[in-house]
Amino acid sequence: MHFGKDQTELLNMLDEIEDYAILFLDKEGNIVDWNKGAENIKGYSSAEVIGRNFRIFYTEEDLLNGKPESLLQAAIKLGKASDEGWRVKKDGHRFWGSILIKAMYDENKNVLGFSKVTRDLTEKMRKDRAIRNYARELAAYNKQLEQFVYIASHDLQEPLLTVTNFIDLLEEEYSGNLDKDGLLYLSYISQSAERMKDLIKGLLDYSRIGVSRISTVDCEILVEQVKNDLHSSIQKSGANIYFHNLPVVNGNETQIRQLFQNLISNAIKFRKPGSIPEIEISAERQEQGWKFLVRDNGIGIDERYKEKIFVIFQRLNHRSEYEGNGIGLAHCKKIVELHDGEIYVESILQQGSTFCFTLNK
Ligand code: ADP
Repeated sequence: MHFGKDQTELLNMLDEIEDYAILFLDKEGNIVDWNKGAENIKGYSSAEVIGRNFRIFYTEEDLLNGKPESLLQAAIKLGKASDEGWRVKKDGHRFWGSILIKAMYDENKNVLGFSKVTRDLTEKMRKDRAIRNYARELAAYNKQLEQFVYIASHDLQEPLLTVTNFIDLLEEEYSGNLDKDGLLYLSYISQSAERMKDLIKGLLDYSRIGVSRISTVDCEILVEQVKNDLHSSIQKSGANIYFHNLPVVNGNETQIRQLFQNLISNAIKFRKPGSIPEIEISAERQEQGWKFLVRDNGIGIDERYKEKIFVIFQRLNHRSEYEGNGIGLAHCKKIVELHDGEIYVESILQQGSTFCFTLNK
């Protein structure tokens, strides 16, 4: 096969490319020339391969299935053919190759031969596989952990119920026998038991959120409903809540309602003493899905705790100042992640916070 002067120059240049094996084949798939990269990847010297058929790089299984022939046929028919798979080096070791074969034609459109570019992706393939395995293990571990949380919180409810029942009995039947201190201690025990009940319920709810029914959700209607549900705290605080043109998204309606409810009720709750909450909800189209912003003029969040607040039971304020159990934002994070999105906060202390989240279902 004649390549001419241009081809020789091209081959000289191709010799410099060491990460790719570049081969020229005749019509039958016999190797006419190749570059330095091919030597590196396949382990043969030029002298050993020139004139041999490129079938030598294929595994026995691929040979039995006629893979090299069908790739050449596809390249003749469509102009080019690509493939990814195991190939064999001179020493018998395998490598994962990404291959492109292009047919070369003469001026009468007759096939002269083929150019073939192979990239060794073994390392990348191994890394991808390791990452996939790691992600699979992590998902299984998370699932186990959730099951553990569910079982533990479920089982904790029972002894707690006994405790609260007996506290009630004590209060009803023996409070007359207790002095002032005794009554005070009993009320502490009762408050703590109530609080524990709330925490366990929060944990149970948290572990129960999972992938469930996806439908179209009109966020404009949903936020209006949330506003109605929060009527009393809105009235008490005098909060103003602005939103318009919120989109229709794909997602789980109950979860998205809870997401807005948690963020809006936090925006009302964490207001500066003596100030009126001004809350704005808006949305922006993203390449994939939507980004929502819930902005408030509240107490703000210290830069250092921007991530911590999304961890279950983490709170920045004492319960005597702002009540709560530190589960709301952990719920939000889980819901957003189930919708293939992410949630974060931007904030300036004493000026306000903007919670941003994406929904990409
Ligand atoms: P909770 O509201 O029960 O305390 P969350 O998980 O909803 O729990 O919130 C965790 C913590 O994040 C809160 O205790 C508070 O310190 C902080 N936080 C949440 N939302 C806001 C907000 N809008 N402004 C200021 N701080 C906030």
